[in-house]
Amino acid sequence: MRKKIVAGNWKMNKDLEAGLSLASEVINMVADEYHGTGIAILCTPFVHLHSVSKLLAGNTKVALAAQNCSQYQSGAYTGEISVEMIKSVGATWVVLGHSERREYFNETDALLLEKTKTVLGAGLNPIFCCGEPLAIREGGEYLNYVKDQLTHGLFALSAEDFSKIVIAYEPIWAIGTGLTASPEQAQEMHAALRTHIAAHYGAEIAENTSILYGGSVKASNAKELFSCPDVDGGLVGGASLQSREFTEIVKAI
Ligand code: PEP
Repeated sequence: MRKKIVAGNWKMNKDLEAGLSLASEVINMVADEYHGTGIAILCTPFVHLHSVSKLLAGNTKVALAAQNCSQYQSGAYTGEISVEMIKSVGATWVVLGHSERREYFNETDALLLEKTKTVLGAGLNPIFCCGEPLAIREGGEYLNYVKDQLTHGLFALSAEDFSKIVIAYEPIWAIGTGLTASPEQAQEMHAALRTHIAAHYGAEIAENTSILYGGSVKASNAKELFSCPDVDGGLVGGASLQSREFTEIVKAI
């Protein structure tokens, strides 16, 4: 059965003190107010992972993710962070291929495939991001564009490995812009991606793949988006920086 997930991507925000307060508030609110079977994931900056993981010991409702990782295991790669380092500080998830990494750090589908294999090899869980820019949406080729991102970034994985992937569909025109995809637009893409996965890996794996929606998700629109049959939760940027707003989004899964 696919998991319901709301992941909060803090991006490059919050110093350690502010990050720990935000994490504590979310952990407490989720413990008190969320009674479903889904999970919340805090995607913090690397330098906060160790401290936040201590707040999470034994927590089954809130998990921890890095926002990126190196494709390499170890060695002379100044400034990079390896999957073993991420694992050693208590994170169990890694976000890969966020559109900001694709655009500003030139991450290609080929590189993301390497990173995905590295994450899986360490026993961590990838959240693989995909999504089209506005020009592609307006040109009408958006379904093929995003399907291609899956084909080139993921479909070289074995079925066993693919079944550990969570996908986050994030239309770039909706990230941080206040423009949200309509539930119909999100459902259209999610259903197309599920059909695409089924054609490659079979119906059972497709049915069990969690596909999150990201792009200006807020407490006010989360319920409607998450009630679409192929939307299994969300990847949340700006709204994850406020504990009350983020908790309300978690409560919508
Ligand atoms: C994101 O960065 O993944 C994102 C969806 O941001 P926002 O919610 O701010 O649009």
